[in-house]
This record gives sequence, structure tokens and C-alpha cells, in this order.
Amino acid sequence: MTNKTTTKCPDCNYEFSIDESTTQCFCQKCGKVLRIENEVITTGLSKMEKYNKSLKSWKKTSFVIALITLICDIVVLTSDIDISVFFLFIGIAFGIFGPVAIAITEPDGSNIKNSGLRKPNRVINWLKYLLVFLLLGVIAFSVSTITYSINRA
Ligand SMILES: [Zn+2]
Repeated sequence: MTNKTTTKCPDCNYEFSIDESTTQCFCQKCGKVLRIENEVITTGLSKMEKYNKSLKSWKKTSFVIALITLICDIVVLTSDIDISVFFLFIGIAFGIFGPVAIAITEPDGSNIKNSGLRKPNRVINWLKYLLVFLLLGVIAFSVSTITYSINRA
């Protein structure tokens, strides 16, 4: 037999009873997720959910930065000088600041209890992403070489 306790939704003030051992439930009136920690009720996302959310958008943004860099690299290596100067500037800017921005904005989940996540090492990650961007340059170079040989044939 579990003990029941009364809880009050902080959002809509609806009162209802839950098991004393419950740590998470839905408000029976407004449907909000309620978290119960040491008898304190909070609504909204947990730290882990927030971390996962920011990780997702960080990955998306990083992918877009890498994609823009790759496209610029390919355009610079394959097209006429007139167009490529513009893309050269963007390519250089993204090539230099892209890895820095990605490394700096990587979400830190190390303050979440029991998550097993470690604090990201910004410098090592920066070097890692720099390497990825160098690889993008190599890919762009390969693509342009293939395009060039196809055009000549
Ligand atoms: Zn409610």
C-alpha cells in the first residue's frame, strides 16, 4: 500500500492526489508534466531534456556550417574567378571560424547528475573539427578534380 499525498499544479493550481513515491506525473487538469523533487514541484523540461534539445540544435547548426563550407570550397575550386572570389571569402571565414564556433557552442552536460557526461574539452574538440573541415577541403578538391576531368572528356 503506497501513501497518497496531495499535490498542486504550479501552472493551473489544480489539486490532485498522487503516490508519495512519484517523481513525475501529469497534471490531471492541464496535462503539464510535473516533476516532484524533494517535495518541490516544477514544470517544464528537465536538465537532461534541455541538454538533449540543445545537443540536437547544436548538431543541426554544425552540420549547416560544415555544408556551407563544403559548398563554398567546391564552388571556389570549380567555377570562374568572378563568382569564386565571393565564395572564397565565405569559405575562408567559415573554414576558420566554423570549427571554433562549433567547439565553443558544444553543449556541456557534465553538470547533470548521473548523466555520465564529461565536460567537453574545447581545445581538443576545436582541433577535431578543424580536421573535419580540412577533410571537407579534400572532398571539395576531389569533387572538383572529378568535375574537371569529366568536362575535359
Ligand atoms: Zn495543471
